Amino acid sequence: MNAIRFHTHGGPDVLRFEEVPVPKPRPGEVLIRVRACALNHLDIWQRRGLPHVTIPLPHISGSDVAGEIAASSQSDLPAGMRVMLQPGISCGRCQACLSGRDNACAKYEILGYRNYPGGYAEYLTIPVANVVPIPETIDFVRAASFPLTFLTAWHMLVTRAGLKQGEDVLVLAAGSGVGQAAIQIGALLGARVFATAGSADKLAKARALGAEETIHHHQQDVAAEVLRLTNRRGVDVVIEHVGEATWPHSVRSLARGGRLVTCGATTGAKAGLDLQALFAKQLSLLGSYMGTKGELLQIAPLLFAGRLNPVVDSTFPLARAAEAQQRLESSGHFGKIVLEV
Ligand SMILES: [Zn+2]
Repeated sequence: MNAIRFHTHGGPDVLRFEEVPVPKPRPGEVLIRVRACALNHLDIWQRRGLPHVTIPLPHISGSDVAGEIAASSQSDLPAGMRVMLQPGISCGRCQACLSGRDNACAKYEILGYRNYPGGYAEYLTIPVANVVPIPETIDFVRAASFPLTFLTAWHMLVTRAGLKQGEDVLVLAAGSGVGQAAIQIGALLGARVFATAGSADKLAKARALGAEETIHHHQQDVAAEVLRLTNRRGVDVVIEHVGEATWPHSVRSLARGGRLVTCGATTGAKAGLDLQALFAKQLSLLGSYMGTKGELLQIAPLLFAGRLNPVVDSTFPLARAAEAQQRLESSGHFGKIVLEV
């Protein structure tokens, strides 16, 4: 089969389009013919190399996948069935897994990250529990654009931050995968959504997705603008994933009793904190990582019914994966960048 692999860490030029053997499913797994694979920042981190993570080389990235069952021993998952994949793989037997918190499993890993080769390839294998059938009305590109970001945003807003109808939520970087998902989920839940972005065009797109207030993060002081728009009150929830560059603004934007939930640190992981603000304003700082299998099954019908719509920025053929990653790194995109396989 054809796949994109890297044999050493580095820039986009280390990505090689090459022929590799089709993987064989182990017991409890199915073989998937990949049709679309959406990019995530995780793909970039693994390609560049992470200081404390060893990635077996050569490596095939790709966590967000839609395609067809190619081979399966499960009678309810016949060959040809159209599916999308839950990107979180867990042991299925531990206390966390059996309590429905599989994203807290000690053996948790993400498809295409370390031991499970991902969707930058024509075929991959995955445990049966990670397969989610999709209807004919959902094309592969949209299906591949859904799982990781919408699952992450749902877990942050609903499970971790407990966002309620009528609350105010600030979503950073509206054009990012998590950003566009969080705006839609916030609006669907009846919250007032504030979104930030770095261009007028992106701010207009954020409003079209359901943001009521938008802030230009290059031209405006985000926290000052949030406080002005809320009559000095601040927002109930902040959705963080940018890290060092935005953290102080995010904390200053919180109302008394506000919750800040973070799933990433794209600009750096070192952040300071005013402890006086933390206790006096009774703030909650929450970490969030992916989401559970049950949550993806809970939100999949919202995709199928058209109530949540992943925004697709652009598509590239598999062979042009390097170009697709460069577009993700340039931050010029709005929504998901998808490889068609
Ligand atoms: Zn487990």
